[in-house]
Amino acid sequence: MRFLPVFLDLQTGPILLVGGGELARAKLRLLLSAGARIRWYATDGQHDVSGLDTPDAARIEYAEGDPLTADLSGLIAVLCAGAGELGPAMSARAKAVGLPVNVMDDLQHSTFIFPAIVDRGDVVVAVGTGGASPVVARRVRERIEAMLPARIGDLATFIGRWRKSIHGRIAEFPLRRRFWERVVDGPIGALVLAGRADEAEAALKNIADPSAFAGAQAGQAEGRVTLVGAGPGDPDLLTIKALRALQDADIIFYDELVSRQVLDRARRDAARVPVGRRVGKPGIGQDAINRLLIDAAQSGQRAVRLKGGDPFVFGRGGEEVEALRDAAVAYSVIPGITAGLGAAAEFDVPLTFRGEALRITFLTAHKAKDAETVDWTTLTDQKMTVVVYMGMTAAPAIRAGLLAVGRSPQTPVGVFARATRPDSQAVVGRLDELPALVREIDGGPAILVIGEVVAHSSPWRKANLDSLLSNYLVAAE
Ligand code: SAH
Repeated sequence: MRFLPVFLDLQTGPILLVGGGELARAKLRLLLSAGARIRWYATDGQHDVSGLDTPDAARIEYAEGDPLTADLSGLIAVLCAGAGELGPAMSARAKAVGLPVNVMDDLQHSTFIFPAIVDRGDVVVAVGTGGASPVVARRVRERIEAMLPARIGDLATFIGRWRKSIHGRIAEFPLRRRFWERVVDGPIGALVLAGRADEAEAALKNIADPSAFAGAQAGQAEGRVTLVGAGPGDPDLLTIKALRALQDADIIFYDELVSRQVLDRARRDAARVPVGRRVGKPGIGQDAINRLLIDAAQSGQRAVRLKGGDPFVFGRGGEEVEALRDAAVAYSVIPGITAGLGAAAEFDVPLTFRGEALRITFLTAHKAKDAETVDWTTLTDQKMTVVVYMGMTAAPAIRAGLLAVGRSPQTPVGVFARATRPDSQAVVGRLDELPALVREIDGGPAILVIGEVVAHSSPWRKANLDSLLSNYLVAAE
């Protein structure tokens, strides 16, 4: 390591910037966003700061004249960006008075270099490669960006606010550290990261005896449940939050719908418990699942309840959340890409379309019996896209219901199976032929999309192209 990462206090004085053009402006933006004051020698004579926020720009002091004779007293660093020949000369001056200096893209004349920065408020990560490769530094930064919770800075700020008062109440250093570890790793930390700072604040206030809290048995009362949307199958459709929860889990309760590839992204040591129903075979039942989740959390585990698509779209996530709340178990919910959206994206079905589709209905019709209870009169709007989950068996009843209330038998429909998975399948046609279309599907899960927008889909265009082509061939014969 040649360059030691240190953090410069920008409150202690201005930074001298020498240079012009886009390079200087990029550095201006960086310095201003970090809160710096800047004295700027624009070497091309153009102090153009259009596009910079006015309150920010107020921190720039426009200097005139020759920077080589500038007064360097009181500065905290010297920076040359787009300064040409002036760079090495300024560097020599700065070095002579012991000021840190950076000449952009010129390691030889720099005594400090800029890292790639991950900026989350009070949490800042600096990534360096000793000036060897900014591109590598940026890639590392991207990885870290993806890894860090968005509110990690809030967590640091939250703890910063409480530090003093807690330290007054716990004398021993190791116990203090243990206290903060339990806060950060436990439900209070999870609340802050979930954006529920008020509840975190209340929970921290509620700790009557911080030493006892810090000294409690490891694992005790730290358990929680995270309901995680696994998306429709493609593991790259997991959200960053979902991935993080999977990486953090001690135990994962997953549904039948969750793909192997998604489970592969979970922490290797996490226990995996299937709790789903297979078609035709009963699952363990919702009450038993609720019980398992509560038991896992109460024994101190970080449990993940992994569900296909989104937990709150036909996923019984609502019931699980209620059970967790009744049992006073800490929980949070991470949304996932629901099957309807996954299928729409894969097969080019714009679920809304200017002038053609102004509403979307997500519907479930598991059995013909369910289909009978659907009020089809609410679905007559020609400009409504209807997305039916679990609608394969009930396809004839769905067709009958929609036709009975006057939806056109010519309405385009799509049946999309195993969407976003390598073996996905699409069958398109008209509402009238829905039951026959469903029979062409080689296996679920599959979703129905009914509405004019299906005519924009890629399988529809392909099918029409095919029929055009066969007409053409017939005509040619
Ligand atoms: N919570 C899930 C839905 C669970 S209901 C979500 O938000 O997607 C189960 C139904 O979802 C299936 O019967 C099927 O209609 C649909 N489904 C789930 N994954 C699918 C996929 N990859 N392709 C097509 N449909 C899917």
